[in-house]
Amino acid sequence: MNHLNNINSTNDTIVALATAIGVGAIAVIRLSGNKAIDIADKIFSTVHGKRLIEMPSHTVHLGTLKSKTEVIDECLATIFKGQKSYTGEPVVEFSCHGSSYIVQEIIKLCLQEGCRLAEAGEFTKRAFLNGKLALNQAEAVADLIISDSYASHQVALQQMRGGFTTEIEHLRKELLNFVSLIELELDFSEEDVAFADREQFRKLLTTIKTTIERLLHSFSVGNVLKNGIAVAIVGKPNAGKSTLLNALLNEERAIVSDIAGTTRDTIEETLHIGGISFRFIDTAGIREAKDQIEAIGVQKAKEKMALAHILLYLYDENDNKPDEIISFIKENYRKDLKIILLHNKIDQYEATYSDSLSNFDATLKAALMPEYTTTLLGISARDHQNLDLLTKELTAYANTLVVGNNAAIVTNLRHYEALKEALQAIEKVEEGLALNLSGDLLAIDLREALYHLGSITGAVTNDEVLGHIFSKFCIGK
Ligand code: GDP
Repeated sequence: MNHLNNINSTNDTIVALATAIGVGAIAVIRLSGNKAIDIADKIFSTVHGKRLIEMPSHTVHLGTLKSKTEVIDECLATIFKGQKSYTGEPVVEFSCHGSSYIVQEIIKLCLQEGCRLAEAGEFTKRAFLNGKLALNQAEAVADLIISDSYASHQVALQQMRGGFTTEIEHLRKELLNFVSLIELELDFSEEDVAFADREQFRKLLTTIKTTIERLLHSFSVGNVLKNGIAVAIVGKPNAGKSTLLNALLNEERAIVSDIAGTTRDTIEETLHIGGISFRFIDTAGIREAKDQIEAIGVQKAKEKMALAHILLYLYDENDNKPDEIISFIKENYRKDLKIILLHNKIDQYEATYSDSLSNFDATLKAALMPEYTTTLLGISARDHQNLDLLTKELTAYANTLVVGNNAAIVTNLRHYEALKEALQAIEKVEEGLALNLSGDLLAIDLREALYHLGSITGAVTNDEVLGHIFSKFCIGK
């Protein structure tokens, strides 16, 4: 136990505003702890004059909330008795009128009657400590609150409902079983017996490795869904990059957010298309650097592009040469990069544009398809022509990432790191087995793997880790 926990005991009854700060129609104040119902009873009387302590659990009551001298508000009190609540302990939720004055007065009253203010994330921490949620599920609660798109919401919800908790717990149980057998062998070391079947053990290790590797791999997908798919827009100056970005923003009635920390050299905007967030990065000035200052800009743009999942290469037929596009694509090609060539300004064509009629595009296709790129679209950023084809292409690509990933996805860096550590330990056990190492040496690495797997769900944890995780929550959650 660290000193924080000694000061703020889990025996206390805690109180906090559960809804957002500020004026609203309704504000919810939540109390949790053994004395929650008693304390609420002292300051709240139901319209029927009945006492909350006499009421059954999971019921809602209309009444008045008052101090010793005056009425503060008419509100609803929802009560959860025993352990059947979010936190696993008695809970009362006052739904009052959403005035910050009322909220402040009610919280003050609760404090006077014996509550203490909740720390950040303390309600969820209690839910974890009382066995209501695994640690990774508790962390998903925080993700769920901040999720702002279909995909990030889906991922957080899946995690909160269990995610890969059962999978990890299952692996841990099987490993634990082997550790006990191996440790049992140690007790009989004189007699040279093997309780743990080495062949079976090897198979188990392989299964565990496969599972962990799959989960590790899912992290990149999970991260994409959680934080958005990075789309780099590249092209010569005046190709129409800004026009395209603006056109997409209008077309999608986008929720645009400026991302802090972007430099003058790259502009980043987030756009939600078909429930998935895309982070568009306008990498201004990807061209050969003429001087030192420009070189810095180009370098930054290249760094951004290295992190992109999709590359939109925008060109103007009158201002580009197929060769420079071809060599750029070949140079920047990565297997995990989806490249879309965008022939902009097709409104300038006298006849209807078609990529098969354009010599320029035919040259590109001959040189690049199918090896380097799969898509070439003619658009007019100015006239919003064929932008629907572009957004369709973007969402289709995003869906290929999501589809087939109904299985558990890792989105949390802490889980990812723990899985990596567990994998390393498992590999050491495998090596040890191959070298016929003694059981006591195998047991060390096995325990290590167990520790890291357990740290994900919270089966093993310490106050420092918990403090760190829950301090990132908001107060009232
Ligand atoms: P950037 O330097 O790549 O960001 O290019 P801009 O978006 O600033 O566009 C450069 C010029 O091309 C501007 O004058 C735009 O109006 C023009 N432009 C952009 N898109 C189109 C298009 O689809 N058709 C035509 N005709 N002009 C366009």
